[in-house]
Amino acid sequence: MERAYSGEGGMSYDVIVVGARVAGAATAMLLARRGLRVLAVDRASFPSDTISSHQVQVPGVARLHRWGLLDRVRASGAPPTRRMRVDAAGVLLEGDFPAYDGVDALYSPRRTLLDALLVDAARAAGAEVREHFRVEKLVWDGGRVTGIVGRERDGMARTETARLVVGADGKRSFVAQAVGAAHYREWPVRAFACYGYWAGVPVTGGALYDRPGLAAAAFPTNDDLTLVYLALPIAGFDAFRADIEGNYLRALDRCGDLGERVRSGTRVERLRTTPDQPNTFRRAHGPG
Ligand SMILES: Cc1cc2nc3c(=O)[nH]c(=O)nc-3n(C[C@H](O)[C@H](O)[C@H](O)COP(=O)(O)OP(=O)(O)OC[C@H]3O[C@@H](n4cnc5c(N)ncnc54)[C@H](O)[C@@H]3O)c2cc1C
Repeated sequence: MERAYSGEGGMSYDVIVVGARVAGAATAMLLARRGLRVLAVDRASFPSDTISSHQVQVPGVARLHRWGLLDRVRASGAPPTRRMRVDAAGVLLEGDFPAYDGVDALYSPRRTLLDALLVDAARAAGAEVREHFRVEKLVWDGGRVTGIVGRERDGMARTETARLVVGADGKRSFVAQAVGAAHYREWPVRAFACYGYWAGVPVTGGALYDRPGLAAAAFPTNDDLTLVYLALPIAGFDAFRADIEGNYLRALDRCGDLGERVRSGTRVERLRTTPDQPNTFRRAHGPG
């Protein structure tokens, strides 16, 4: 069964945004603040996590500040990172971030918090955000996309129409595929990441380590936890996953005293690995 809704000018919305995490919720919020009638949909619900580390670099933090959302990020308990240490095999750089647009710190809010905060801000701006809504088809009128067909959690198919449909549905974007947004640069997967959250591993700022065939990072995040992140060449993934935690810790042992500090703490969530991250640039639009 399918229900269709029709608003002014035959279109239900000015803009439909598919995907309501950092890109989609922020887009929906900004458009709604401009007075447009916006629908954002996501098959996920919020708050929820996603596979990603979550350093928001200083210019990104400046945007949150400009949008009036930085206080909420701070209130979530995400600590500021003002100082960075870069240890690149023999070369040590340490310093504070220069201020940018009134902001002088990087933040690493958990995606459970940041994404939900942006969804709340989109709703507060007047956007409608529908969770548990999976887009399955685009609606076309001639060569132009005029809407979406999706399914709610109850299995009900729904069609919504808009003057513009934005695909903010991630790296394997359904919208991009459906409009044939061409990939213009593509490389095979070259690296994988492995990251986790640790209690009792205090850090005074952010740290990056660069070693032959290895990059690692440690940043403070919510709940007094430290995110400890590792990236290694994909060729070693099968051997790595035979003993994920052991190999993770041994790799951190190559990063000054990071391994030792992490071993003295407690891992509070499972380690996540990402062996399937595509390296792709694609056109940002389709026909119409
Ligand atoms: C290991 C790793 C570490 C990273 N570290 C950082 C970092 O430290 N800092 C940083 O800035 N970036 C980092 N990134 C990149 C960051 O994760 C992405 O740039 C960011 O998540 C993209 O946000 P997005 O909103 O475009 O898409 P996503 O976060 O992927 O969200 C897309 C949304 O679309 C929804 N969706 C997809 N298909 C449909 C559909 N058919 N119908 C309805 N909804 C749909 C999904 O449910 C999802 O919620 C990292 C990425 C990885 C993999």
